[in-house]
Amino acid sequence: MTTLLFSHPVFQRHEVPPGHVEHAGRYAAVDEALRAEEFAALDRRLAPLATPEQIELVHAEQYRLAIEEAAPEAGLAQLDADTFMGPSSLEAALRAVGGACAGVDAVFAAGASGAAANAFVASRPPGHHAEPLRAMGFCLFNTAAIAAIHARSHGAKRVAVLDFDVHHGNGTQAAFWDDENAFYASSHEWPQYPGTGRAEDRGAFDNIINAPLATGEGSEVFRRAWGEILLPALSDFDPDCIIISAGFDAHHADPVGRLKLDEADFSWATTEIAAIAKDKASGRLVSVLEGGYDLAALAASAAAHVKALIAA
Ligand SMILES: [Zn+2]
Repeated sequence: MTTLLFSHPVFQRHEVPPGHVEHAGRYAAVDEALRAEEFAALDRRLAPLATPEQIELVHAEQYRLAIEEAAPEAGLAQLDADTFMGPSSLEAALRAVGGACAGVDAVFAAGASGAAANAFVASRPPGHHAEPLRAMGFCLFNTAAIAAIHARSHGAKRVAVLDFDVHHGNGTQAAFWDDENAFYASSHEWPQYPGTGRAEDRGAFDNIINAPLATGEGSEVFRRAWGEILLPALSDFDPDCIIISAGFDAHHADPVGRLKLDEADFSWATTEIAAIAKDKASGRLVSVLEGGYDLAALAASAAAHVKALIAA
């Protein structure tokens, strides 16, 4: 089993205003953690640029062009209350998507030769709040949703995104709502930004499963939601490829989320998802970084997550 790591220096350059929680130091913290000796076996690759066709798997052409148009040559452009673009942001967002799609290409190629592989994309900006027609919540393009739909270019029919970020992935839910063969499962704090993700929101084909967790809850409630609701639903869906929206802001040290998970919970969820990937999807699993705003907790959580991917 080889685990691929997609990264790129531009992920550290994506500009935000001073004091913004989604800052360059996040990439540096994850990058440094994944340079430890125990990650020497990672197959490291530079994330390529996404093609316009890949972006348009989820976003309308007019939206893609508007984001290109909004990219400033200097300074910052503001897209919503907390979503910004600087001169490097468009390239960063395109390489996040390109890395995730290349990860999908690699796990399908590996599957053909019998050696299952998985991949982690250590990118910023995050993506799961980006809707088909709207940037929001630090996100420009919906990396995870695009990577999932991209798997169909390899013959996958049924694709799944699993999301344990402390925030609900409203963008992924919106992208998948009417797609009977696209599955989205999320655990998230409730109430919390962006205010979507009620348990009764299940998609047009019962293809969306939301597990809102009350503020202050921790490991026990998280593992019960995944073990009793989300993972069995994933298994029943019988995916051909799985994408993880790996946000680590449900960590107890996180300044934005108010759930009380720790690294072991992320490691557990990763191992459980990877087992279903093996069972149902020939091991095809690609994970993309979403949130996580305490640098030490983010670094430790991403390391635990990638260790679980390597061990899968
Ligand atoms: Zn988040």
